[in-house]
Amino acid sequence: MEEQRGVECPGVPGRVAPEIDRNRCEAKATCIEVCPFDVFEIRTLVPSDRDALSWRGRIKAWAHGNRQAYVIRPADCHACQLCIKACPEDAIRLVPYSTD
Ligand code: SF4
Repeated sequence: MEEQRGVECPGVPGRVAPEIDRNRCEAKATCIEVCPFDVFEIRTLVPSDRDALSWRGRIKAWAHGNRQAYVIRPADCHACQLCIKACPEDAIRLVPYSTD
């Protein structure tokens, strides 16, 4: 069992990765705080992501400086689900990961 930052994770990397719901994320960074493998980073929304937001999502994004969580190391995700449990906006789910 792999351990990082004092958290034991039974998962295997490279099978799933988090996906962020852009209409929910408020850049509160709880995912960054809890992820043992530094999978996330808070960044400014890229134009294509901002353009795809709902009307409500745009208002939310504007209210939070147009910054949100991004998955920068998807291959390092071990599927521990700590980020899913910690996100106050219920904005994260795990999806199959593929480099194809
Ligand atoms: S499930 Fe979430 S907290 Fe756990 S390793 Fe993957 S990204 Fe990090």
